[in-house]
Amino acid sequence: MAPSSRPSVAPKRFVIIGGGPAGTTCATHAARLGAQVTLIEKDIVGGAAHLLDCIPSKAMIATGGAMAMVNRAAEMGLARVEATLDFDALKRRIKDIEDRLENSVSQLLESQGVRLMEGVGSLVSTHEVEVRLSDGTTETVTGDIIVLSTGSRPRIPEWAPVDGVRVLSTRDAYPPPKLPEHLVVIGSGVTGVEFVHMFNSFGSRVTLIVSRQQVLPDKDPEVAAVLEQSFLNRGVKLFMGARAEAVETDGERVRVQCNDGRVAEGSHVLLAIGSIPNSEGLGLENAGVESDHGYVVVDHNCRSNVSHIYAAGDLSGKLPLSSVASTQGRKIAEHAMGLHAAPHRHIDYDKAASAIFTDPEIADVGVAEADAFAAGRKIRVTKVPFSVSAKALINNDPRGFVKIVSDPATGVVMGGSIVGRHAAELISVLALAVTARLTVQDLVESLFVHPALAEVLGEAAE
Ligand SMILES: Cc1cc2nc3c(=O)[nH]c(=O)nc-3n(C[C@H](O)[C@H](O)[C@H](O)COP(=O)(O)OP(=O)(O)OC[C@H]3O[C@@H](n4cnc5c(N)ncnc54)[C@H](O)[C@@H]3O)c2cc1C
Repeated sequence: MAPSSRPSVAPKRFVIIGGGPAGTTCATHAARLGAQVTLIEKDIVGGAAHLLDCIPSKAMIATGGAMAMVNRAAEMGLARVEATLDFDALKRRIKDIEDRLENSVSQLLESQGVRLMEGVGSLVSTHEVEVRLSDGTTETVTGDIIVLSTGSRPRIPEWAPVDGVRVLSTRDAYPPPKLPEHLVVIGSGVTGVEFVHMFNSFGSRVTLIVSRQQVLPDKDPEVAAVLEQSFLNRGVKLFMGARAEAVETDGERVRVQCNDGRVAEGSHVLLAIGSIPNSEGLGLENAGVESDHGYVVVDHNCRSNVSHIYAAGDLSGKLPLSSVASTQGRKIAEHAMGLHAAPHRHIDYDKAASAIFTDPEIADVGVAEADAFAAGRKIRVTKVPFSVSAKALINNDPRGFVKIVSDPATGVVMGGSIVGRHAAELISVLALAVTARLTVQDLVESLFVHPALAEVLGEAAE
């Protein structure tokens, strides 16, 4: 019998600009689903996330954490030892992690048949992207689907003369050219407080400028209070309610002038005051793509106003998290390939778990107690400290607590916060409960390991 002569359908062509978590996840997923994928990256695959943000920051924090643990060894029945920082070894460690991650992402892309173009991409029409290749030539690629995932970069105000030596942006700090003797951190959001913790654990003196009356202004006040106290115990100087408005360098010293007349002085300054999208030069106007303050405006499916052009990651102006960026990338691949378009498959950003890698760690998910009260929502809040946990005592770290927010009528878990060791890992249990609409009773009846920190989740659910 003659083979069937069904006409073959040409694979969908994806062109993706930007190879961070959003772009690379979209690329591999679309390729797996049968698309022909071209990924354009001007720097390294893995993106700012691997090279400049999440990964190096967490690698440095882990080294600082190891130092702190060794220095507390005597409290765990060990002979006294002291860890000191080898700054050059730390730089090599970060480079090694980055190289390994870049290699594994490159290999994954290659194994899925993704075409990688090294260069700068920009839209020249609704279906065409011009790529300025690293050898100076240009090439135009055509896509049925275009994905914009060029990420963001630190916001640098006019009054801050960032030089990468004394006045640093977050991009100059992993690691900085020299370990600061006294660092002034401007900005007390997630990134700012992680810097405070990191440099303080390496032995730098630190001053933090907090523009409001609370560090982590968007977080639960009870959670923020634990961190503030921990900073004060560690000798961090807090300038509460002070807004930085000028930075001056004078030889080896830097001075930060605040709006209330106070001046913070140190050897280095680090700015952690948010980010701006990488959208200029991207040719949005050539394709009629709508943007708002540089962020591409997208719908539930990460689709822009031009139906075959999507945006993901920080450029989409949603939650600036690597985890969110890669989930958006995967969703775009599925949506553009005609899968999982139903509303229940839309990303629910309110259910994204997030963590702050300080000491103690902080993590949360879903509805926050303070927000629910402010909105007049009926909630049940239960809280148990880690000091009741055998494992916390074994770990020599009984600080912090688990707080669970649930619906008083149904018992469905709506959210929660965890402060304490391994909070970033433990929050995954609550994230799953929130996403799967599990009840507090489900948590109570889960047979957790003993002794384990997770047992506190069951107790907090009681
Ligand atoms: C200090 C810091 C720490 C962080 N820590 C965490 C954390 O612990 N956990 C977490 O989930 N998130 C963290 N984040 C946030 C996270 O880094 C971002 O949300 C994430 O990188 C966004 O991914 P993306 O794919 O949108 O962009 P990116 O990772 O920024 O990648 C964008 C890529 O696009 C490329 N590009 C840009 N323009 C072009 C162009 N025209 N042509 C070709 N290529 C281009 C860039 O070179 C880059 O590689 C942190 C952020 C900061 C600043």
